[in-house]
Amino acid sequence: MGAELHTGFDCSVCGQHHAVLPLSYSVKVPLAALAVPRAEWGRRVVLSPDLCVIDERFHYVRGRFAVPVHGLDEPFIWGVWAWLRPQDFYRTNQLWTDPARVGEPPYAALLNSEVPLYGDTARMPVQVQTMPVGRRPHFFPADATHPLAVEQREGMSMARVVQIAEQMLCDDLATS
Ligand SMILES: [Zn+2]
Repeated sequence: MGAELHTGFDCSVCGQHHAVLPLSYSVKVPLAALAVPRAEWGRRVVLSPDLCVIDERFHYVRGRFAVPVHGLDEPFIWGVWAWLRPQDFYRTNQLWTDPARVGEPPYAALLNSEVPLYGDTARMPVQVQTMPVGRRPHFFPADATHPLAVEQREGMSMARVVQIAEQMLCDDLATS
């Protein structure tokens, strides 16, 4: 996990006070890699903290859905993966250390992670926006009416951040 608030929060699920309130949740591996048997990873999966290639054919990049939080300077982050077209993955690699990469147009891609609490997002169409060197790309749902897209536009309340934490940390239903 990344950013968090050390004010913590009182949890309505378990009734306890949690010492930290996370402002980000991330998955380290795309769903497609999880679908490959572990014994086959050595010859089929190439994985770094930012990129993944499976069978030298399917290409994934790690990025973030950033959601502004009312009253906070830093956004809330869902760290997830997207399945890129080969040419866009090639561009991503080619421009990895190039400051001019911020001029890249968005890439159309398919999400390759579940974002908890937003229904089935495993193959949700997204736009992948390249960020300055050293920062992971930002993702946006292609469907502007998707609840996550609405939250990205309008921001969310601290109460919503707490609600997410309650479900992520304490509600078994959220992870089943
Ligand atoms: Zn709890």
